[in-house]
Amino acid sequence: MFVLGTRIEEYGLVVEVRPSWRLARCGGCGARAPGYDRRGPRRWRHVALLEMRVWLEYAPRRVDCRGCGVRTEAVPWAAPGGSFTYPLEELVAYLAQVTDKTQASRIAGVSWPAVDAVVERVVERCRAASSLEGLRRIGIDEFSYRKHHRYVTTVVDHDAKRVVWAGEGRSSKTLEPFFEALGEEGCAAIEFVTMDLSAAFTKAARERLPQAQIVYDRFHVQRLAGDAVDEVRREIQRDLAGTEEAKELKGSRYALLKNAWTLTVPERARLAAVQETNKPLYRAYLLKETLRDALNYKQPWRAEKALRAWLAWASRSKLAPFVRVARTIRKHLGGVLAYVRERLTNGIVEGFNNRLRMIARRAFGYHGPGPLIAMLFLCCGGIVVRPLLPTRD
Ligand SMILES: [Zn+2]
Repeated sequence: MFVLGTRIEEYGLVVEVRPSWRLARCGGCGARAPGYDRRGPRRWRHVALLEMRVWLEYAPRRVDCRGCGVRTEAVPWAAPGGSFTYPLEELVAYLAQVTDKTQASRIAGVSWPAVDAVVERVVERCRAASSLEGLRRIGIDEFSYRKHHRYVTTVVDHDAKRVVWAGEGRSSKTLEPFFEALGEEGCAAIEFVTMDLSAAFTKAARERLPQAQIVYDRFHVQRLAGDAVDEVRREIQRDLAGTEEAKELKGSRYALLKNAWTLTVPERARLAAVQETNKPLYRAYLLKETLRDALNYKQPWRAEKALRAWLAWASRSKLAPFVRVARTIRKHLGGVLAYVRERLTNGIVEGFNNRLRMIARRAFGYHGPGPLIAMLFLCCGGIVVRPLLPTRD
């Protein structure tokens, strides 16, 4: 790019420029092409100079491209059709990565919708076409936004530790475009899929990745037991309604649900009281703890033995919620035992999703999933943005 001159206008500093290449290039395909005619001057918004807006100005030619026909020429400082220069877009994307949308919009001096649009364009540019290549171990999870009315499903690569795909919805059909993009060969190369005990994702994985081992996330399995303890407690509490014992039980909720090693002394005392006075509830507590211990075994055969013993105990426990949990785990046993062998959890996917939930909360006003998904890729997709930052002394 050559600078031809500058002038100050009411709306800011205008820098007249032209591409450094002589022969024009087609805006459609980038190939050199003969000039056709010249349009009037256009302006591109550039990185601001302190409080002064800066614009690049150039009158683009139209070219007669062999492949594309008559097109506006490409310019080296901005994407075809874009109204921001690349340096401004990189700066906005970088700010969106390191801070929130409001700050990015303030510092770069562009509107909120412009931040969204820039993030989408930069992600589009930076996401390598090969981002689905070499996938072997993936994780699938969903997260909700807009007060839990809308869902986005994400796919992560456990090995590269980044998000590789995202789409709106959470049904078995949601993943269809992902499998399409992955292709037959790509699908066949997947060895492990981690997920929660979701029927929709299980169905999708069984159909499209029949050779892959499903690994159910252990923390979701444990959560089933935690929920069952709570259900047992609530039932007993209902039966005892109005008595001193019911009040006591209500206070023991956290002690029953917490991990044993994080219990405080008063919580331990509460548990001891439950053990003394309420046998079924204490049994529920022990079942929850024992399930965790079973999944903790490092040797797969020990874990499997413990898990099978647990299933037998839970089924005979006379606690309806645990009988149900045992039934669910039995139904998913292959995928639960796969965890024991592979030690893969959905933790990485959920970590990303927590981050995205934070982004969605911090900058509500994401009306469609498009900008939100772009933001997810920008922040968790392994995209490196290199803005032009001042060098340090
Ligand atoms: Zn062309």
